[in-house]
Amino acid sequence: MDRSAPLPPLDPLAAAQTRAAAPLPSDAAGLQAATQELCAWAEAAAHAAEDETALRAARDAWLGRKGGVLARLKQNWLAAAPPPRKRDAGQAYNTVAQAAESALAAAANELAGRSAARRLADERVDISLPARRAPFGPAHPVLAILRRMTDIFLRLGYSVAEGPEIETAYYNFEALNIPAHHPARASQDTLYMDAGPGAPELLLRTHTSPVQIRAMRQAAPPLRVIAPGKVYRNDAPDATHSPMFHQLEGLAVDEHITLRDLKGALDHFAQEMFGAGGAGERNVRTRFRPSYFPFTEPSAEMDVGCLFCRGAGCRACKQSGWIEVLGCGMVHPALFRAVGYDPERWTGFAFGMGVERIAMLAYGVDDIQRFYSGDLRFLSQFPD
Ligand SMILES: [Zn+2]
Repeated sequence: MDRSAPLPPLDPLAAAQTRAAAPLPSDAAGLQAATQELCAWAEAAAHAAEDETALRAARDAWLGRKGGVLARLKQNWLAAAPPPRKRDAGQAYNTVAQAAESALAAAANELAGRSAARRLADERVDISLPARRAPFGPAHPVLAILRRMTDIFLRLGYSVAEGPEIETAYYNFEALNIPAHHPARASQDTLYMDAGPGAPELLLRTHTSPVQIRAMRQAAPPLRVIAPGKVYRNDAPDATHSPMFHQLEGLAVDEHITLRDLKGALDHFAQEMFGAGGAGERNVRTRFRPSYFPFTEPSAEMDVGCLFCRGAGCRACKQSGWIEVLGCGMVHPALFRAVGYDPERWTGFAFGMGVERIAMLAYGVDDIQRFYSGDLRFLSQFPD
Protein backbone atom coordinates (compact mmCIF):
# COMPACT_ATOMS: atom_id res chain seq x y z
CA MET A 1 0.00 0.00 0.00
CA ASP A 2 1.32 3.42 -0.88
CA ARG A 3 1.45 5.19 2.49
CA SER A 4 2.04 8.61 0.97
CA ALA A 5 -1.35 8.52 -0.76
CA PRO A 6 -3.95 10.60 1.13
CA LEU A 7 -6.50 8.58 3.05
CA PRO A 8 -9.93 8.42 1.45
CA PRO A 9 -12.40 10.78 3.17
CA LEU A 10 -13.95 9.10 6.18
CA ASP A 11 -17.57 8.06 5.75
CA PRO A 12 -18.94 8.62 9.29
CA LEU A 13 -21.87 6.24 8.78
CA ALA A 14 -19.75 3.38 7.41
CA ALA A 15 -17.28 3.88 10.26
CA ALA A 16 -20.07 3.84 12.85
CA GLN A 17 -21.61 0.71 11.36
CA THR A 18 -18.25 -1.06 11.43
CA ARG A 19 -17.69 -0.01 15.03
CA ALA A 20 -21.19 -1.06 16.10
CA ALA A 21 -20.75 -4.45 14.48
CA ALA A 22 -17.64 -5.10 16.62
CA PRO A 23 -17.88 -6.50 20.14
CA LEU A 24 -17.73 -4.36 23.30
CA PRO A 25 -14.19 -2.91 23.68
CA SER A 26 -12.27 -4.99 26.20
CA ASP A 27 -11.34 -2.22 28.66
CA ALA A 28 -12.69 1.06 30.00
CA ALA A 29 -10.28 3.23 28.00
CA GLY A 30 -11.20 1.47 24.75
CA LEU A 31 -14.90 1.88 25.55
CA GLN A 32 -14.48 5.60 26.25
CA ALA A 33 -12.57 6.16 22.98
CA ALA A 34 -15.17 4.21 20.98
CA THR A 35 -17.98 6.19 22.63
CA GLN A 36 -16.37 9.52 21.71
CA GLU A 37 -15.81 8.41 18.14
CA LEU A 38 -19.40 7.26 17.74
CA CYS A 39 -20.70 10.58 19.12
CA ALA A 40 -18.52 12.49 16.63
CA TRP A 41 -19.68 10.33 13.74
CA ALA A 42 -23.33 10.79 14.66
CA GLU A 43 -22.74 14.51 14.69
CA ALA A 44 -20.96 14.38 11.33
CA ALA A 45 -23.67 12.20 9.71
CA ALA A 46 -26.44 14.55 10.83
CA HIS A 47 -24.49 17.60 9.72
CA ALA A 48 -23.79 16.14 6.27
CA ALA A 49 -27.48 15.77 5.42
CA GLU A 50 -28.17 18.44 2.79
CA ASP A 51 -31.90 17.95 2.46
CA GLU A 52 -34.92 16.15 3.93
CA THR A 53 -34.25 12.95 1.99
CA ALA A 54 -30.63 12.69 3.12
CA LEU A 55 -31.64 13.44 6.70
CA ARG A 56 -34.28 10.70 6.65
CA ALA A 57 -31.66 8.24 5.38
CA ALA A 58 -29.28 9.27 8.20
CA ARG A 59 -32.05 8.82 10.77
CA ASP A 60 -32.85 5.34 9.46
CA ALA A 61 -29.19 4.37 9.46
CA TRP A 62 -28.70 5.48 13.06
CA LEU A 63 -32.06 4.93 14.73
CA GLY A 64 -33.54 2.14 12.58
CA ARG A 65 -34.85 -0.72 14.68
CA LYS A 66 -33.29 -3.34 12.48
CA GLY A 67 -29.65 -2.85 11.57
CA GLY A 68 -29.46 0.75 12.82
CA VAL A 69 -26.20 1.73 14.56
CA LEU A 70 -27.92 2.10 17.95
CA ALA A 71 -29.76 -1.22 17.57
CA ARG A 72 -26.47 -2.97 16.91
CA LEU A 73 -24.75 -1.29 19.86
CA LYS A 74 -27.59 -2.45 22.07
CA GLN A 75 -27.03 -5.99 20.90
CA ASN A 76 -23.23 -6.07 20.77
CA TRP A 77 -22.43 -3.89 23.79
CA LEU A 78 -25.37 -4.13 26.18
CA ALA A 79 -26.72 -7.59 25.65
CA ALA A 80 -23.29 -9.17 25.22
CA ALA A 81 -21.62 -7.44 28.20
CA PRO A 82 -20.67 -9.66 31.15
CA PRO A 83 -22.48 -8.64 34.35
CA PRO A 84 -19.60 -6.59 35.86
CA ARG A 85 -19.44 -4.41 32.71
CA LYS A 86 -23.17 -3.95 32.15
CA ARG A 87 -23.19 -0.59 33.90
CA ASP A 88 -20.33 0.93 31.87
CA ALA A 89 -21.72 -0.47 28.63
CA GLY A 90 -25.15 0.99 29.49
CA GLN A 91 -23.71 4.43 30.19
CA ALA A 92 -21.68 4.36 26.96
CA TYR A 93 -24.72 3.31 24.97
CA ASN A 94 -26.87 6.09 26.48
CA THR A 95 -24.19 8.69 25.69
CA VAL A 96 -24.06 7.65 22.02
CA ALA A 97 -27.88 7.40 21.73
CA GLN A 98 -28.39 10.89 23.19
CA ALA A 99 -25.70 12.37 20.95
CA ALA A 100 -27.20 10.78 17.83
CA GLU A 101 -30.77 11.81 18.63
CA SER A 102 -29.93 15.39 19.51
CA ALA A 103 -27.63 15.79 16.46
CA LEU A 104 -30.37 14.49 14.15
CA ALA A 105 -33.01 16.68 15.79
CA ALA A 106 -30.77 19.75 15.48
CA ALA A 107 -30.15 18.96 11.79
CA ALA A 108 -33.90 18.61 11.19
CA ASN A 109 -34.50 22.01 12.81
CA GLU A 110 -31.83 23.64 10.75
CA LEU A 111 -33.19 22.17 7.49
CA ALA A 112 -36.73 23.35 8.30
CA GLY A 113 -35.44 26.84 9.03
CA ARG A 114 -33.44 26.90 5.82
CA SER A 115 -36.43 25.90 3.65
CA ALA A 116 -38.63 28.49 5.35
CA ALA A 117 -35.99 31.13 4.66
CA ARG A 118 -35.77 30.01 1.03
CA ARG A 119 -39.54 30.20 0.67
CA LEU A 120 -39.57 33.68 2.15
CA ALA A 121 -36.86 34.73 -0.29
CA ASP A 122 -38.74 33.20 -3.23
CA GLU A 123 -42.01 34.86 -2.30
CA ARG A 124 -40.53 38.20 -1.55
CA VAL A 125 -42.38 41.02 -3.32
CA ASP A 126 -40.37 44.02 -4.35
CA ILE A 127 -42.90 46.79 -3.91
CA SER A 128 -40.49 49.32 -5.40
CA LEU A 129 -40.75 47.71 -8.87
CA PRO A 130 -43.06 49.47 -11.37
CA ALA A 131 -46.40 47.68 -11.87
CA ARG A 132 -46.66 45.24 -14.78
CA ARG A 133 -49.17 46.90 -17.05
CA ALA A 134 -51.33 44.67 -19.26
CA PRO A 135 -51.73 46.43 -22.62
CA PHE A 136 -55.35 47.35 -23.30
CA GLY A 137 -55.90 46.28 -26.90
CA PRO A 138 -57.99 48.41 -29.24
CA ALA A 139 -60.32 46.83 -31.81
CA HIS A 140 -58.68 45.76 -35.08
CA PRO A 141 -58.93 48.73 -37.49
CA VAL A 142 -61.12 46.75 -39.91
CA LEU A 143 -63.47 45.74 -37.11
CA ALA A 144 -63.51 49.31 -35.74
CA ILE A 145 -64.52 50.66 -39.16
CA LEU A 146 -67.10 47.91 -39.60
CA ARG A 147 -68.67 48.92 -36.28
CA ARG A 148 -68.76 52.57 -37.33
CA MET A 149 -70.40 51.66 -40.65
CA THR A 150 -72.89 49.40 -38.89
CA ASP A 151 -73.78 52.12 -36.38
CA ILE A 152 -74.57 54.60 -39.15
CA PHE A 153 -77.11 52.21 -40.69
CA LEU A 154 -78.53 51.15 -37.31
CA ARG A 155 -79.35 54.82 -36.70
CA LEU A 156 -81.20 54.84 -40.04
CA GLY A 157 -83.42 52.01 -38.83
CA TYR A 158 -81.62 49.06 -40.43
CA SER A 159 -81.10 45.82 -38.53
CA VAL A 160 -78.19 43.38 -38.87
CA ALA A 161 -78.73 40.11 -40.77
CA GLU A 162 -76.28 37.23 -40.87
CA GLY A 163 -75.69 34.24 -43.13
CA PRO A 164 -73.25 31.36 -43.54
CA GLU A 165 -69.80 31.87 -45.06
CA ILE A 166 -70.10 28.45 -46.73
CA GLU A 167 -72.90 28.88 -49.25
CA THR A 168 -74.68 26.94 -51.93
CA ALA A 169 -74.33 28.03 -55.55
CA TYR A 170 -78.05 28.75 -55.45
CA TYR A 171 -77.82 31.50 -52.81
CA ASN A 172 -74.50 32.85 -54.02
CA PHE A 173 -75.48 32.99 -57.72
CA GLU A 174 -78.83 31.70 -59.01
CA ALA A 175 -81.11 33.48 -56.57
CA LEU A 176 -79.15 36.68 -57.29
CA ASN A 177 -79.98 36.50 -60.99
CA ILE A 178 -76.57 35.02 -61.87
CA PRO A 179 -77.39 31.81 -63.80
CA ALA A 180 -74.82 29.12 -64.55
CA HIS A 181 -73.87 30.56 -67.93
CA HIS A 182 -73.54 34.11 -66.62
CA PRO A 183 -70.06 35.65 -67.05
CA ALA A 184 -70.22 37.13 -63.53
CA ARG A 185 -69.68 33.63 -62.12
CA ALA A 186 -66.35 33.26 -63.81
CA SER A 187 -65.27 36.79 -63.02
CA GLN A 188 -65.70 36.25 -59.31
CA ASP A 189 -62.91 33.71 -58.89
CA THR A 190 -65.00 31.50 -56.67
CA LEU A 191 -63.46 29.07 -54.16
CA TYR A 192 -65.51 25.87 -54.42
CA MET A 193 -65.59 23.21 -51.71
CA ASP A 194 -65.11 19.55 -52.54
CA ALA A 195 -68.18 18.14 -50.79
CA GLY A 196 -67.87 14.69 -52.42
CA PRO A 197 -69.80 13.05 -55.28
CA GLY A 198 -73.53 13.67 -55.29
CA ALA A 199 -73.32 16.43 -52.67
CA PRO A 200 -74.78 19.87 -53.44
CA GLU A 201 -72.25 22.31 -54.79
CA LEU A 202 -70.77 24.30 -51.88
CA LEU A 203 -68.55 27.34 -52.06
CA LEU A 204 -67.11 30.12 -49.92
CA ARG A 205 -69.43 33.06 -50.50
CA THR A 206 -67.91 35.61 -52.86
CA HIS A 207 -70.09 38.43 -51.54
CA THR A 208 -72.53 39.09 -48.70
CA SER A 209 -75.42 39.35 -51.19
CA PRO A 210 -76.73 35.81 -50.42
CA VAL A 211 -77.76 37.24 -47.03
CA GLN A 212 -80.22 39.53 -48.88
CA ILE A 213 -81.98 36.47 -50.27
CA ARG A 214 -81.95 34.69 -46.90
CA ALA A 215 -83.29 37.80 -45.15
CA MET A 216 -86.11 38.23 -47.68
CA ARG A 217 -87.04 34.54 -47.40
CA GLN A 218 -87.29 34.87 -43.62
CA ALA A 219 -89.36 38.05 -43.44
CA ALA A 220 -92.17 39.68 -45.32
CA PRO A 221 -91.63 43.25 -46.58
CA PRO A 222 -91.10 46.02 -45.62
CA LEU A 223 -87.50 45.26 -44.76
CA ARG A 224 -84.31 47.16 -43.95
CA VAL A 225 -81.23 45.05 -43.26
CA ILE A 226 -77.47 45.27 -43.48
CA ALA A 227 -75.26 42.20 -43.75
CA PRO A 228 -71.67 42.66 -42.62
CA GLY A 229 -69.26 39.74 -42.89
CA LYS A 230 -66.33 37.91 -44.43
CA VAL A 231 -66.23 37.00 -48.11
CA TYR A 232 -63.71 34.95 -50.10
CA ARG A 233 -62.21 35.16 -53.56
CA ASN A 234 -59.50 33.21 -55.26
CA ASP A 235 -57.32 36.31 -55.52
CA ALA A 236 -53.56 36.45 -55.06
CA PRO A 237 -52.74 38.86 -52.21
CA ASP A 238 -51.39 42.23 -53.29
CA ALA A 239 -51.77 45.85 -52.21
CA THR A 240 -55.48 45.94 -53.07
CA HIS A 241 -56.50 42.24 -53.09
CA SER A 242 -56.86 39.60 -50.41
CA PRO A 243 -58.41 36.12 -50.65
CA MET A 244 -60.49 37.04 -47.59
CA PHE A 245 -61.97 40.44 -46.90
CA HIS A 246 -65.09 42.00 -45.41
CA GLN A 247 -68.15 43.43 -47.06
CA LEU A 248 -71.11 45.32 -45.81
CA GLU A 249 -74.24 44.83 -47.82
CA GLY A 250 -77.52 46.65 -47.40
CA LEU A 251 -81.09 46.14 -48.57
CA ALA A 252 -84.22 48.25 -48.20
CA VAL A 253 -87.59 47.02 -49.49
CA ASP A 254 -90.87 48.89 -49.17
CA GLU A 255 -93.69 50.33 -51.19
CA HIS A 256 -92.76 53.37 -53.29
CA ILE A 257 -89.00 53.15 -52.75
CA THR A 258 -87.22 55.00 -55.55
CA LEU A 259 -83.70 55.84 -56.69
CA ARG A 260 -84.03 59.04 -54.66
CA ASP A 261 -84.20 56.99 -51.44
CA LEU A 262 -81.08 55.10 -52.49
CA LYS A 263 -79.17 58.31 -53.18
CA GLY A 264 -80.38 59.92 -49.97
CA ALA A 265 -79.39 56.98 -47.77
CA LEU A 266 -75.96 56.47 -49.33
CA ASP A 267 -75.15 60.18 -49.42
CA HIS A 268 -76.01 60.31 -45.73
CA PHE A 269 -73.70 57.37 -45.12
CA ALA A 270 -70.85 59.17 -46.94
CA GLN A 271 -71.32 62.33 -44.86
CA GLU A 272 -71.32 60.36 -41.61
CA MET A 273 -68.43 58.13 -42.59
CA PHE A 274 -66.05 60.58 -44.22
CA GLY A 275 -67.39 63.99 -43.23
CA ALA A 276 -66.00 66.36 -40.66
CA GLY A 277 -68.89 65.48 -38.38
CA GLY A 278 -70.63 68.83 -38.00
CA ALA A 279 -74.36 68.49 -37.35
CA GLY A 280 -76.22 68.58 -40.66
CA GLU A 281 -73.08 69.62 -42.48
CA ARG A 282 -72.56 68.20 -45.96
CA ASN A 283 -68.87 68.46 -46.63
CA VAL A 284 -68.33 65.26 -48.61
CA ARG A 285 -69.23 65.39 -52.29
CA THR A 286 -70.85 62.29 -53.76
CA ARG A 287 -71.71 61.26 -57.30
CA PHE A 288 -73.43 58.26 -58.83
CA ARG A 289 -72.17 56.71 -62.06
CA PRO A 290 -74.18 54.15 -64.07
CA SER A 291 -72.86 50.62 -63.67
CA TYR A 292 -73.96 47.02 -64.01
CA PHE A 293 -74.76 44.29 -61.48
CA PRO A 294 -76.90 41.23 -62.24
CA PHE A 295 -79.02 41.73 -59.13
CA THR A 296 -79.89 45.43 -59.53
CA GLU A 297 -81.46 47.47 -62.30
CA PRO A 298 -80.59 50.26 -62.75
CA SER A 299 -77.16 49.92 -61.13
CA ALA A 300 -74.70 52.57 -60.07
CA GLU A 301 -71.40 53.12 -58.35
CA MET A 302 -71.01 55.86 -55.80
CA ASP A 303 -67.86 57.97 -55.71
CA VAL A 304 -66.89 60.46 -53.03
CA GLY A 305 -64.79 63.53 -53.62
CA CYS A 306 -61.15 62.51 -53.02
CA LEU A 307 -60.49 62.63 -49.28
CA PHE A 308 -56.80 63.29 -49.78
CA CYS A 309 -56.70 66.13 -52.29
CA ARG A 310 -60.26 67.43 -51.82
CA GLY A 311 -60.85 67.11 -55.56
CA ALA A 312 -57.67 68.77 -56.82
CA GLY A 313 -56.26 65.49 -58.18
CA CYS A 314 -53.65 63.21 -56.60
CA ARG A 315 -52.19 59.73 -56.84
CA ALA A 316 -54.91 58.19 -54.64
CA CYS A 317 -57.68 59.36 -56.98
CA LYS A 318 -55.58 58.92 -60.15
CA GLN A 319 -55.88 62.68 -60.71
CA SER A 320 -59.67 62.38 -61.14
CA GLY A 321 -60.66 64.02 -57.86
CA TRP A 322 -63.07 61.12 -57.16
CA ILE A 323 -62.76 57.83 -55.33
CA GLU A 324 -65.08 54.88 -55.90
CA VAL A 325 -66.66 53.72 -52.64
CA LEU A 326 -69.53 51.32 -53.30
CA GLY A 327 -71.84 49.62 -55.76
CA CYS A 328 -75.61 49.96 -55.57
CA GLY A 329 -78.85 49.85 -57.49
CA MET A 330 -82.58 49.19 -57.45
CA VAL A 331 -83.34 45.54 -56.64
CA HIS A 332 -83.91 43.50 -59.82
CA PRO A 333 -87.49 42.16 -60.00
CA ALA A 334 -86.05 38.67 -60.58
CA LEU A 335 -84.81 38.65 -56.96
CA PHE A 336 -88.24 39.52 -55.64
CA ARG A 337 -89.73 36.72 -57.71
CA ALA A 338 -87.11 34.29 -56.38
CA VAL A 339 -88.17 34.97 -52.77
CA GLY A 340 -91.90 35.31 -53.41
CA TYR A 341 -92.24 39.13 -53.07
CA ASP A 342 -94.64 40.74 -55.54
CA PRO A 343 -92.42 42.92 -57.81
CA GLU A 344 -95.47 44.94 -58.86
CA ARG A 345 -96.03 46.07 -55.29
CA TRP A 346 -92.58 46.17 -53.69
CA THR A 347 -89.49 48.06 -54.76
CA GLY A 348 -86.16 48.43 -53.06
CA PHE A 349 -82.52 49.27 -53.30
CA ALA A 350 -79.36 47.40 -52.39
CA PHE A 351 -75.74 48.38 -51.92
CA GLY A 352 -72.49 46.70 -51.07
CA MET A 353 -69.00 47.84 -50.19
CA GLY A 354 -65.63 46.48 -49.12
CA VAL A 355 -64.92 47.25 -45.47
CA GLU A 356 -61.14 47.14 -45.93
CA ARG A 357 -61.46 49.61 -48.79
CA ILE A 358 -63.44 52.00 -46.59
CA ALA A 359 -60.86 51.54 -43.81
CA MET A 360 -58.02 52.27 -46.24
CA LEU A 361 -59.77 55.48 -47.33
CA ALA A 362 -60.69 56.54 -43.79
CA TYR A 363 -57.20 55.89 -42.39
CA GLY A 364 -55.12 56.68 -45.48
CA VAL A 365 -53.66 53.16 -45.61
CA ASP A 366 -52.21 52.23 -49.01
CA ASP A 367 -51.75 48.44 -48.67
CA ILE A 368 -54.58 46.10 -47.67
CA GLN A 369 -52.05 43.46 -46.54
CA ARG A 370 -51.09 45.63 -43.58
CA PHE A 371 -54.43 44.84 -41.97
CA TYR A 372 -53.57 41.13 -41.92
CA SER A 373 -49.91 41.48 -40.97
CA GLY A 374 -50.46 41.02 -37.23
CA ASP A 375 -47.92 43.82 -36.73
CA LEU A 376 -48.97 45.53 -33.49
CA ARG A 377 -46.93 48.64 -34.31
CA PHE A 378 -49.29 49.14 -37.25
CA LEU A 379 -52.51 47.81 -35.73
CA SER A 380 -52.34 49.72 -32.46
CA GLN A 381 -52.14 53.22 -33.98
CA PHE A 382 -55.82 53.47 -34.94
CA PRO A 383 -58.53 54.95 -32.76
CA ASP A 384 -60.89 52.34 -31.41
ZN1 LIG B 1 -57.12 62.86 -54.84
